[in-house]
Amino acid sequence: MRRILLRGGVVLNPQTHLHEPLDVLVEGERIVALGNALSPVDAQVLEVSGCYVVPGLVDMHVHLRDPGFPDKETMATGTRAAAAGGLTTVVCMPNTRPTVDDVSILDGVLATARRDGVVRVHSTAALTKGLAGVERTDMANLLQHGAVAFTDDGKSVMDPVVLYDIFQTAAQLDTLIASHCEDHHLVRGGAMHRGEVSQLLQDEGIPALGEELVIARDLLFAADTGARLHIQHVSTARGVQLIREAKARGVRVTAEATPHHFSLTDAILLDQGALAKVNPPLRPAEDVVAVVAGLQDGTLDVIATDHAPHTLAEKQQGLSRAPFGFVGLETSVGLAFTHLVHTGKLSADQVVARMSVAPARVLGLPIPQIAVGEVADITVIDPEFIWTVDPNRFLSKAQHSPFTGTKLRGKAVATVVGGRVVYTEKEGLLT
Ligand SMILES: [Zn+2]
Repeated sequence: MRRILLRGGVVLNPQTHLHEPLDVLVEGERIVALGNALSPVDAQVLEVSGCYVVPGLVDMHVHLRDPGFPDKETMATGTRAAAAGGLTTVVCMPNTRPTVDDVSILDGVLATARRDGVVRVHSTAALTKGLAGVERTDMANLLQHGAVAFTDDGKSVMDPVVLYDIFQTAAQLDTLIASHCEDHHLVRGGAMHRGEVSQLLQDEGIPALGEELVIARDLLFAADTGARLHIQHVSTARGVQLIREAKARGVRVTAEATPHHFSLTDAILLDQGALAKVNPPLRPAEDVVAVVAGLQDGTLDVIATDHAPHTLAEKQQGLSRAPFGFVGLETSVGLAFTHLVHTGKLSADQVVARMSVAPARVLGLPIPQIAVGEVADITVIDPEFIWTVDPNRFLSKAQHSPFTGTKLRGKAVATVVGGRVVYTEKEGLLT
């Protein structure tokens, strides 16, 4: 049987608060021993001294663009980018072509994932047919076919009658609604946060209120129906505060922050233009501070990338015409360690928890753990690895990023999925 020894690292296992120098022995697809100076025969040895050995990272907000947009990304390229970024599990969004609003489409996505994926892939399904916000999907059937959550990500369902039915159905099924919060009546045509920078760039702007109104509405719907709600990519201070207060009242809500919302302000658009155009938009410094505070106190449970690949040609159409979004799978660990751990804002254990245990718990997936008997989904992070973001080296098809040229400290240097080493910093992709 295949054996791998991860030797000399420090194991972080947030679920049991373990933080200790330990070797990890993997046999077949499982972890079979933790200990000091393990010396099994016939094991492939990964020297990981100076590194953290952590439960496989889970990214619950990823656009793999498959089916429908092979110029932007595919299951094969997106999951390879995930492996290179240290993710062992990704959850893809349903705004593909066709939309994942029917079991046949969902079955197709999951079959493609089994065939082409190099990490584990789960899929969400749409709340409404064609993401049109009019007709609810057959959530019960989609749930039976493996949908891990329901979302119209990229849009909000604006009709309260349709939405109330969705929340009641989700409550009955005890499934998760993941909500992209944006009031379409307030948000029209802007490419970036409405504020000083949008005035300078003569963009109409996207008001923070457009996001906050829908967060407030969805929290009320969750409170009223008892459904489980997850707020995606929270970007404003008032949004964080609304969620904090709802949690204190016992509303069943969780929330996520993206690396770009905790590490960039809207000022980056002065340099990067449409390469930094994203939805929700990058906000001013006071919002970034509030997002970090939300991660510190657990109001924001999860770090998720909203990896949203587009071709360079699409992103070079100018601020108003370029599509929203950019890639994040290969920079999330570096950004989290640089901006949260090395600044002393969160511990490495907290960051790892927000990138592994927390998303798994929110989705009802098995909790990833470094412990004997567990499936060997493992990420090795070198917290001191200094590197410069170079999109030409991305495994994602989208070889551009607003972080191009940024120096980061911390990187995923090996990724193990089900006992198989799929990526190492030295050797690259191994599958
Ligand atoms: Zn979204």
